[in-house]
Amino acid sequence: MEPRQQKFSIWYGIVAMLAILAIQTRFLSDQVETLPYSDFKVLLKAGKIKDVSVGEQDITGTFSTEGVDALLSKPQIEEINRAGNGDHAFLTLRVTDPTLVPELEAAKVRFVGRPDNKWLGALLSWVVPVLIVLALWRFLIKRIGGAAGGLMEIGKSKAKVYMQKETGVTFADVAGIDEAKEELSEIVSFLKDPLRYQRLGGRIPKGVLLVGAPGTGKTLLAKAVAGEAAVPFFSMSGSSFVEMFVGVGAARVRDLFSQAETMAPCIIFIDELDALGRTRALSMVGGNEEREQTLNQLLVEMDGFDSNKGVIIMAATNRPEILDPALLRPGRFDRHIALDRPDLKGREQILRVHVKNVMLGSDVDLNKIAARTPGFAGADLANLANEAALLAARKGKSAVESEDFDEALDRIVGGLEKRSRVINAKEKETIAYHEAGHAIVAEHRPLADRVSKVSIIPRGVTALGYTQQTPTEDRYLLKRSELLDRLDVLLGGYVAEQIVYGDVSTGAQNDLQRATDMARQMVTQFGMSQQLGLATYEDAPNPLFSGTGWARRERKDYSENTAQLIDTEVRNVLAEASTRVTATLKGQRTKLEALARRLLEKEVVDRQDLDRVLADP
Ligand code: ADP
Ligand code: ZN
Repeated sequence: MEPRQQKFSIWYGIVAMLAILAIQTRFLSDQVETLPYSDFKVLLKAGKIKDVSVGEQDITGTFSTEGVDALLSKPQIEEINRAGNGDHAFLTLRVTDPTLVPELEAAKVRFVGRPDNKWLGALLSWVVPVLIVLALWRFLIKRIGGAAGGLMEIGKSKAKVYMQKETGVTFADVAGIDEAKEELSEIVSFLKDPLRYQRLGGRIPKGVLLVGAPGTGKTLLAKAVAGEAAVPFFSMSGSSFVEMFVGVGAARVRDLFSQAETMAPCIIFIDELDALGRTRALSMVGGNEEREQTLNQLLVEMDGFDSNKGVIIMAATNRPEILDPALLRPGRFDRHIALDRPDLKGREQILRVHVKNVMLGSDVDLNKIAARTPGFAGADLANLANEAALLAARKGKSAVESEDFDEALDRIVGGLEKRSRVINAKEKETIAYHEAGHAIVAEHRPLADRVSKVSIIPRGVTALGYTQQTPTEDRYLLKRSELLDRLDVLLGGYVAEQIVYGDVSTGAQNDLQRATDMARQMVTQFGMSQQLGLATYEDAPNPLFSGTGWARRERKDYSENTAQLIDTEVRNVLAEASTRVTATLKGQRTKLEALARRLLEKEVVDRQDLDRVLADP
């Protein structure tokens, strides 16, 4: 507020000065006759000049208008007549004229010298420019402040923190992600009554990280937690901190936490945490200082925070792998909740939420629509329902019909396919066989981990489906036989595609890479190859850099022959595994088919379902 007032007062000053200037010129022009120097001389010689004041730049004085008609030019006379007769003031700009003083003396005119009135000149020559510069400076500062977070007005920076007293969202608005809701219900009950919770000895996490693809409902879920617990919801976006003056983001974070503390119990939600918290090791030389400072401040605030006060920090990201490990340490974002794209049933439920206030035609079958939208995230489904309603409204219908959904679907799928978020039917089938292959092999390898879930819903950016295995216990040592079983499971997808289609897809690339790495480690590090014996040929990869492709296979102090032998051995290990897996899957072809069909139908097959499929003759 304060700078705004100052700016106003400057404008007032400028306006006032212009007014004075205008008045002065009017005043002068009305009463004072401006005479050319030659006319002045004529009048002087004719004895019409009465008195004179000689300044540096001009001569002023009075003259008598009597009988000047013959002496002056016509317009001048007219002007004088208009002003009336008698004595007139005049103003003449001075020219260099050495005879002036003698002539004044000769005409017996009373004359005085006069120091120039510098006021106006000074005003024009430097006060006004200074004022203009000042005004400009103010203006620029304001502009910079507005654009980049504020030199003077930190509170009005782009890194906005929003506070909602009530989000108006509840768990009823969130569908299809029941597991996540369940995990968060504990936090809701804590926020509802932190004291009671503490008395019961509950230890509540400080930070909850929601991980999931865009549009899977991370923000929605965080708001719903606040809504369920009826607590205020503070939110900010990590990305808005990245291009600002150093120090502003950190100040905002400090501010945010102190504000939140006064409003506890409440929720702080940080969207796009990855923008702010990407690992410091990965950033370029010099890095982004602002981001780092902000991140550090966030870490400091989280550490200094006593979660018992009732402030829960939630954050969302779709790229957890690039987060700075410091963020994920105990006491920070140590609780992770993964949000998958919804399965068939989930999609139907989400659609149901979004058509709650829509009149549906009798021919609309949400289950069928859900079946046609594999790979859609919650936001896509919300968009679909909205688009269908708009189309129906445009056609002047009183209810949204099936054909409106069809049309909306066509439009949306077109857009999504470009972003490769939708999978066509043929690909879906391939993925189903691939995942079924992994699962069946895992079921037929006694030393492999048990399958807990098979899914053909795309997860993350690359994985099109996944087979989840739950280890029965923590393992630190693995026997050769166990490694071989794991290898078989890895190859299960590839081999299944080969058996079913006589062809393979690019989808197995990651499996093959992991299988190759494993086989290579067995040969070069674990002494598990008969040909190569007990010697180790490569160091274990530096775990710090694992996955980045750096520092892998650095040691190479063996001969060309050995190198060839290693390659041959790796290939042998893989070929043998492939043979074993092919035998297994060919023998279990009916089960493979049954599981793939089940997957196509339900998209997610859990353990019980899997047992049912496998038990079926
Ligand atoms: P994210 O934060 O994961 O990118 P949002 O929470 O912003 O996704 O989701 C955008 C919109 O999509 C929500 O406002 C909501 O309308 C819809 N949506 C997403 N997931 C769900 C869900 N599970 N149930 C109901 N609506 C959802
Ligand atoms: Zn696979």
